[in-house]
Amino acid sequence: ALAERLEDTWKKLRGQGKISQSNIQDALQEVRRALLEADVNFQVVKSFVAEVEKNALGAEVISGVNPQQQFIKLVYDELVKVMGESNVPLAKAEKAPTVILMAGLQGTGKTTATAKLALYLQKQKRSCLMVATDVYRPAAIDQLMTLGEQIKIPVFQLGRDANPIEIARQGVVSAQEQGIDTVIIDTAGRLQIDQDMMGELSQIKSTVNPDEVLLVVDAMTGQEAANLTRTFHEEIGITGAILTKMDGDSRGGAALSVRTISGKPIKFIGVGEKVEALEPFYPDRMASRILNMGDIVSLVEKAQEELDIGDVEKMQRKMMEAKFDFNDFLKQMRLLKNMGSFAGVMKLIPGMNKIGAGALEKGESQLKITESIINSMTKAERENPELLAKSPSRRRRIAKGSGHQEKEVSRLISDFTRMRSMMQQMTTGGGFPGMPGMGG
Ligand code: GDP
Ligand code: MG
Repeated sequence: ALAERLEDTWKKLRGQGKISQSNIQDALQEVRRALLEADVNFQVVKSFVAEVEKNALGAEVISGVNPQQQFIKLVYDELVKVMGESNVPLAKAEKAPTVILMAGLQGTGKTTATAKLALYLQKQKRSCLMVATDVYRPAAIDQLMTLGEQIKIPVFQLGRDANPIEIARQGVVSAQEQGIDTVIIDTAGRLQIDQDMMGELSQIKSTVNPDEVLLVVDAMTGQEAANLTRTFHEEIGITGAILTKMDGDSRGGAALSVRTISGKPIKFIGVGEKVEALEPFYPDRMASRILNMGDIVSLVEKAQEELDIGDVEKMQRKMMEAKFDFNDFLKQMRLLKNMGSFAGVMKLIPGMNKIGAGALEKGESQLKITESIINSMTKAERENPELLAKSPSRRRRIAKGSGHQEKEVSRLISDFTRMRSMMQQMTTGGGFPGMPGMGG
């Protein structure tokens, strides 16, 4: 069919009908850089990017979206998928109490997260008991007691002379006796991973048999998050993680490292020092943050959702047959306007050139002027733009009718004429002269 042949020609002209190794190199590099800047562990970056590239190669390019941008969207989707698609709620024991064991290095926010989690559960009408097993740091028990008073949640403790394993055991028994729903066991951390800490944690674990072992990871940990997770997961076995200090500069790449290394979900993020500053973890939000590419992703999504692909293809064919007239021009402008971000969207639309972009960057007001000028044209003039190029009197009439200056009418016509001649160059095999976003 003619339509198919034209479509094929179009693809050849673009040379980018499929995602190929050559047309995504820049995008690949951009993604790698974004992930490393977000502090994703470099080995995790390497395997992740290789996997996405492999899956992306040969994928059909959506009309109206360039391969680089589409590739980045693929990366985003994969990132969301790898991080678990949706939020994974806390486990709940069939028979109360549910036991949650907190693990992690010193200063990551375990004690704070213990209180945050207790408050979070309390808001869901689940009663909690917090257990203080950090007998090493002088003020650790007091810190949890103070937090407990603040949020009105009881703390179980046996002082600094007791054995942490014994404290944990008795804490759970106490919760059972009081009919408390959830026990959260705060533990001691060390500045570095050490065998004493691991030994103690795994003894607590085997004693209380927790429903959750949550690794608390500071989002600022960076590259080390991967090693840390590996060690904790191998030595103790975690069921999930809490990523703290996400209110800082960190882009949260540790989330991807933790998830990839352990295969366990991030369940919450800490977003401040206050006890209320805890949020469920959402993979899609984190993926946008990690890639720092929210704009591109949403543009591609918009192109997919809001652009009537059929319309675009029809227009592309018209361009190639050089039948593109003022009616099409107006339609295209309106389409773009509906999509919101003018300048950004321009890059996504093959066939829109700098002239159109220039007009559109001025945005709404320019579009109104263009619209009113085109509306003042007769049907014949819209369909045969040549009529206007030749006739000053027609231009004068349109200027008057639309309430704009004659020079604005002339400019629109010359813009349009130039755009058409560029389209003709394209169809006669010249490629895309100065097309934005076509990436070579
Ligand atoms: P622990 O040693 O693992 O028990 O860590 P702490 O709970 O004592 O927290 C160490 C420090 O990090 C404290 O100053 C906390 O206020 C702070 N902190 C904990 N979570 C967050 C968070 O999500 N955001 C910010 N900005 N600070 C946090
Ligand atoms: Mg602590």
